[in-house]
Parts: sequence; C-alpha cells; structure tokens
Amino acid sequence: MKGSGQLPAAGRQAGPQSIGLLGGGVAGLALAALLGGLGHGVTVYERDRAGGKLRRVTVGGLSFGTGPSLFTFPGVWRAFLAQLGEVDPLDLRPLPGGLGIHYTPFGEVPLPVPPGHPLHSAWSRYVASAAPLAPWVETLLTTPPRLTDPLFRQASGGLFRATRGHLTAEGWVRAQRLPPALAHAIRTHALNAGLAPEDAPALYALIPALVAEKVYRPASGMGALLGTLLALATARGVQVREGAEVVRVDVERAALTLRGGKVCQHDLLVSALDPVRLAALRGHSVRSPVSCRTVSGVALYAALPAPAPLPATSVLPPTDFTTFRAAMRAGALPPDTLALVHADGPRLAVLLTAPATARNLGPPHSWVRAQVRRVEERLGVPGLLASARDVVALPPAYYAAGGYPGGAIYGAALPVWRGGPLHPQPYHPAPRLWQVGTGVHPGGGLPAILGGALIVKRLMQGRG
Ligand SMILES: Cc1cc2nc3c(=O)[nH]c(=O)nc-3n(C[C@H](O)[C@H](O)[C@H](O)COP(=O)(O)OP(=O)(O)OC[C@H]3O[C@@H](n4cnc5c(N)ncnc54)[C@H](O)[C@@H]3O)c2cc1C
Repeated sequence: MKGSGQLPAAGRQAGPQSIGLLGGGVAGLALAALLGGLGHGVTVYERDRAGGKLRRVTVGGLSFGTGPSLFTFPGVWRAFLAQLGEVDPLDLRPLPGGLGIHYTPFGEVPLPVPPGHPLHSAWSRYVASAAPLAPWVETLLTTPPRLTDPLFRQASGGLFRATRGHLTAEGWVRAQRLPPALAHAIRTHALNAGLAPEDAPALYALIPALVAEKVYRPASGMGALLGTLLALATARGVQVREGAEVVRVDVERAALTLRGGKVCQHDLLVSALDPVRLAALRGHSVRSPVSCRTVSGVALYAALPAPAPLPATSVLPPTDFTTFRAAMRAGALPPDTLALVHADGPRLAVLLTAPATARNLGPPHSWVRAQVRRVEERLGVPGLLASARDVVALPPAYYAAGGYPGGAIYGAALPVWRGGPLHPQPYHPAPRLWQVGTGVHPGGGLPAILGGALIVKRLMQGRG
C-alpha cells in the first residue's frame, strides 16, 4: 500500500495512515479535513498562521478577511461539505450588486447588466453564449481531468461548445462583437486566471456570465471560511501546527525537517505549497522568469471613520489591456492597473493588481498613491483612504513570503491551452507524495482549490 501511495480505508488492512501535510492554507486545511474524516492521522505543518492568503487581520479595531473577497460556484463548497456529512455553517449571502460596477473607458457597466440598461440585450446575448458550459462548471472543478472519464468528456464538451474553438479570452471576446464597454468589462475577468485577456484561456471570458448573478460572501465575512475549515479539520483529529516551517522534504522516507532541526516521520506526505517551493525543499531548483508568472497585488485594508458612500463592489479596469499586459510581463508597474474596491460599512478594501516582483509596495509608494488617487477620483471620493483611522497593506513581498516566487497569486502562468481543465496534473509526483492547492489545480481561486482537494482525496483512495 505504501508503495502506491494510495490510502487504505481507515480501519481496514494497513489501518489509518500517518499523513504529514505541508501548508495550512485553504487547500491544505480542506484536504486535511477530508483525510481526517477518513480516519487518518493528519498533521498540518504551517510556517506562519493558518489560512495562507486567507487570514484575519485587525485594522483600527475592525476585523478583515484578507485575500479572497468573492465566493463563487458554491456548489463546490457544498460538495466538499457533503463528503464530510456537514450542513453549511457559513450562511452565504449574495453580494449586493453582483460583480459590481465596472468603470470602463467607454462608460460604466454593472455586471450583471439589469433589464432596462442600454447594454442589457447585449448582456443577454453574451449570457446565452455561455449557456452550454453553465451546467458543467462544477463538474469540471471537481472531476479528475481524465479523457477516459465519460463525465469529464461530457463536461469538456460543454466547455468546447461555449468557447467555440477560441483559445484565449481576448479571441473569444473579439469574436462576439460586443459593445466596447461590455467587452472591456468582460476582459477584466480574465484576471481571474491572473493573466491579461490575451494570455488567459477563453473559459475566463465566460466567468462573468456564469457568476454575476451568484456572487456570495459569508454573512460574517470571509474569515468565517477559515474558522470553519479549522473547526472541520480539528473535529476530525487533525493537528494544526502553526509556526512550524518545513525546511527539507525527504520524499523517499516521507520525512520532513522543521526549522530548528526536528525531523517528523510519516507514512505519506501531502504538499499544499506551491510546487516551486516544494521543489526547493526537495533540493531541486526551478526557474521562474517574471514573464511567466501570474499577477500579484497590493491589498489595502482600511478602517474608515464612517461608512464609505460606495456600492459593495467597484471595479476599475486598466484603460488599455495591451499596455497592462506588457507591464506585467516585464515586471514593470502599469500606468493604470486593475483596481477592485470593496466597501462594507466602515471597512474598505482596495486591491491593486501588480507584477509578481516581490516588491514591498506600501501606501507611501508613488505608484500606489497614484493608483489610489485614480480610484478615488473615478468613484468621486477624493481623500477617502487618507481619512482612514488605520490602513494595513499587503504587498507582493507578503505573498512571495509563503507562495510562488515574486508573490504570483495564481503561481506559474501556463500555456493558454493548459490553463483550463486540461491543466497539468502533478497530483501524485512521487510514490509517497501528493500535491494540492493553487499551483496544482490552477486558476479560479477558492472553487478550484476546494475542487482540487476533492479530486486529490478521490485519487488518494484509488478512485481515479
Ligand atoms: C488579494 C487576493 C484576492 C483574491 N481574491 C479571490 C476571490 O475573490 N475569490 C477567490 O475564490 N479567490 C481569490 N483569491 C485566491 C485565493 O485566495 C487563493 O486561491 C487561495 O487562498 C490559495 O490557497 P492555497 O491553500 O492554495 O495557498 P496559500 O494560501 O498560499 O497557502 C499555502 C500555505 O503554505 C504555507 N507555507 C509555505 N511554505 C511553507 C513551508 N516551508 N512550511 C510550512 N508551511 C509553508 C504558507 O504560509 C501558506 O499558509 C485571492 C487571492 C488574493 C491574494
């Protein structure tokens, strides 16, 4: 059993396995809960605090959930809970205004576009184009990508019918001949893959059609997802060791060395780290040129003295995607970048897209100040951030500390035809080693990594 790296059902044959799981982000905690639920002994080793990109920070006395702000494709989350036999404790609430107002150079576009709006008929036509994919997205997110699997083939068929032979998001959008404002707003969502529309798979041009009416957030904020995952894991006997940095991995022996020199021996290892970090811990080196990275960002979390007079979500796309793409690939700061603004009472989050160069870009930096000024002027709230009681900034240097080189949020940029469901599948790179998380099941944020955890659990059980 150890030779194949597959799990016996706990209590049968070899009995429960001891599993060392590296990385306590969402992916690591989700898979730990699933494996703990099978009766295995799981220890999570986390170099910092649990949560990874999703953590709680306190700013000016207010609690913020960092990282993900939009919860999409909730069917994946429900499939995860169903495997644990749990009901949903998150109380997911639809976000007012869906994906928000997009301030394009051609005019303002709310997504979804409501009836009566001049762009509504173009929006309806666009949503209809995505219809062949709509019933299949959650299947694609939770099914091992094997062409031998009839369900995967059927779901991929829906994707190919909707993308109609186009490889890139840019190619797909151009072919639709949509009004410029709507096309610009849709292009923005290629950034869900961490890439400009010319580099993102066509699938990402369909994302607004699939999610705009169904964007959620837990009633008590995104931090509730972290609390829930920790509770689900610990209730299944998972030990979460925070401040336990793994500095060496011996895959043959399934042994980990922690900072300080302690060696921990297991039957199996699971890495929920970025694959490049894991490679370094195994003594391998992997090149990662800036031009081949997904984007990073600067997240500003501000406690305002009073609620901001803003809708829940505002989106300022780059004025010109060609300039934006060139800057990201060169590791340069674009003249105007994608900015997402989330307002929730006195809580304000401004997320600025930046190249993955591990820079320490804080509020005093001239580029950050210029981007904030652009946002405030466009939204008609000059001086809003300066009025904050307190601001915390998480720059690319922060994301680089525990993630992919440069702080690339979605890891390596894959060739366009591999960025969708036909992505590489390094789930099981060595007999006693499995991998999960953003860099293994790329793109799509929370749905992709929760779906990836379900896939890896299934493969570990030998049910590929
Ligand atoms: C600003 C921002 C906005 C986002 N918005 C959205 C959104 O709206 N919707 C959405 O769905 N997704 C969003 N995402 C993406 C989502 O947050 C990520 O996909 C997800 O949190 C990644 O989880 P992970 O577990 O794969 O990786 P990580 O969160 O990176 O977890 C990896 C963990 O491994 C730990 N680690 C690293 N090295 C070691 C070591 N040597 N030893 C032990 N531990 C180690 C790290 O400390 C970290 O905790 C956003 C991300 C960011 C940054």
